[in-house]
Amino acid sequence: MKLLINGEWRDAASGKAFAVRNPATGDMLEEAPLGGEEDVRSAAEAAGEAFADWSAKSPRARAKILFFAAEEVRRRNTDLAALLTAEQGKPIREAVDEINGFANILEYYYALSAGERGEFANLPGYGHTIVLRRPLGVCGAIIPWNMPAIIMGWKIGPALTTGNTMVLKPATTAPLTCGRLASILEGAGLPPGVLNVVTGPGETVGREIARNPEIRKVSFTGEAGTGRQVALDAAPALKQVTLELGGSDPMIVCDDADIPMAVEGAVRGRFYNCGQTCTAVKRLYVFDSIADEFIRRLRSRVESIVVGNGMDRGVDMGPLNNPAGLERVVREVDAVCEHRDGEIVTGGQAPRGEGYERGFFFLPTLVAGLSHDSPLFSEEVFGPVLPVATVADLDEALIRANDSRYGLGASVWTRNADLIARATEGLEAGIVWVNQHLKIPPEVPFGGTKGSGIGRENGSRALEAYTEEKVVMIRL
Ligand code: NAD
Repeated sequence: MKLLINGEWRDAASGKAFAVRNPATGDMLEEAPLGGEEDVRSAAEAAGEAFADWSAKSPRARAKILFFAAEEVRRRNTDLAALLTAEQGKPIREAVDEINGFANILEYYYALSAGERGEFANLPGYGHTIVLRRPLGVCGAIIPWNMPAIIMGWKIGPALTTGNTMVLKPATTAPLTCGRLASILEGAGLPPGVLNVVTGPGETVGREIARNPEIRKVSFTGEAGTGRQVALDAAPALKQVTLELGGSDPMIVCDDADIPMAVEGAVRGRFYNCGQTCTAVKRLYVFDSIADEFIRRLRSRVESIVVGNGMDRGVDMGPLNNPAGLERVVREVDAVCEHRDGEIVTGGQAPRGEGYERGFFFLPTLVAGLSHDSPLFSEEVFGPVLPVATVADLDEALIRANDSRYGLGASVWTRNADLIARATEGLEAGIVWVNQHLKIPPEVPFGGTKGSGIGRENGSRALEAYTEEKVVMIRL
C-alpha cells in the first residue's frame, strides 16, 4: 500500500517501507510506507486545504458519499474480509462481520445526517438566539490493529459527516484493510484531502498527529498507557481528545442463570478475535452454588474450539496478531505456574504440530483458583486467557468486579429482576449487558469510565463530539 495524502497514493518522505505479515504463517503480504512527522504535516496541510469546500457541503451530500462507499464495501466484502484475515489473523467469518460492520456504521451516519441541526431560542431582551454546530476542522484518528475496519468506521463516520477532514493512522500490523477502505471512499467521491491515511510507527506518526497544532482534535483508540501519552502530547495545542482505551470486563454469572447460554456467552465473549477485543470478557465471576457445573461445561466447550489459520474452513480462533502480543500472553500464563497462584484448567500453551509452526498461536486457556490480586485480574490480558473466580453472591461479585482501574464493559447473567437492577446500577462501566456481552451496534454510545477513557463514540451524540457550538444572537 501507499500513503494517501491529498488524493494521491505516495511513498513516505523517507522513502522507507515496512513489511506487513500474515500472523498465521509469517509470510509477507505487502509493504507499507514508513511514514514520519513530515508525512503527517503534509497530510494535515492537505486536510486543512480541503476543509473549506468539504464543510460547505450539506451534511446529506457528504454522508451520501459514505453511503455509496458502504454499498461498494458490501459488494467487495469477500475480498476485503480475506485481506483483513490475512493481516489481522481473525477467522474469515469474523472478518466478514467486521467488514459489514464498517458498512453499517457509514449507513448509520448517512441516516443521521438528515437530522443534523442546531438550536434556536427567542430570549426576550436578548433577541433571537441561534446555536449553530460547526465542524472542528482537521481531526486526527489513531487506531489499533484488533478491529481496524470497525474502529476506522467509528472515527470517520461522524467526523466526515459533520464536515471535518481527517488524518488517520492505522496500526503497523494491520494497515492494509484501512488503505483499501480509504480507496473505496475515494472511488465513491470523497474529494482529495478529506481523508488522508499515514502509515508508520506510533512514536513518530502517532505522536505528530497528537502534537500537530493544525489538527484540532485527536481521537485515539488503544492501550491506556499510550492514551495517556497522546493526551500529554495534545495538551500544549489545547486540542480536543477522545480516548477509547483498554478494559478488563467482568462477567458475573448468578445462580439462576441459563447455564448453557452463559457458557456460550463466556466463550464468545472471551475467545472472539483470539481474545483481542477491548470489551472481551476478561474476568469471570461465577456464584459458588453453580461453579462446579459451570466450569465443567465451560472447560469442555473451550476444548472444542478449533485453533488455526483464519482462512481455513472450520477454524473458530486464529492466531494472536503479533509476536509481542503472544510473548505477553505466554509470560502472563507462565507466571501463574511460577508463582503457584492458580491452576490452568485447560490450554496454557501454544498448540503444537503441523500448521502451527510459524504463526502466533496460543490455545484457549482457562485459569481457576487465582488469588484476588493476581495480575490476570488486575491487568488487561489481551489474548485467549480467561481467569475464573467463584463468589458467594452479587455483593461479593460487585466488589470484585469494580476492583479494577478499568471500566469499559461488564455483564450480568440472570433473569432475576432484583439482581439485574442491582448489577446494572452497581457495575462501574460505560456499558452493562444483561445475558449478553460484547455487542456494540453503532446506535449506542460507546466508551469507558475510570481508566478506560475519556468521551464516547457512536450514537447520535458522536456528531456533537466532532462539532462545537457557535452562538449567534440577533437583535432587530
Ligand atoms: P497501542 O496503544 O499499542 O496502539 C494503538 C495505536 O497507537 C497504534 O496505531 C499505534 O501505532 C499508536 N501509537 C503507539 N504509540 C503511540 C504514541 N506514543 N503516540 C501516538 N500513537 C501511538 O494499542 P494496540 O496494542 O494497538 O491495541 C490494543 C489496545 O487497544 C488494548 O488495550 C484494547 O483494549 C484497546 N482498544 C480499545 C478500544 C475501545 O474502543 N475502548 C477498542 C479496541 C481496542
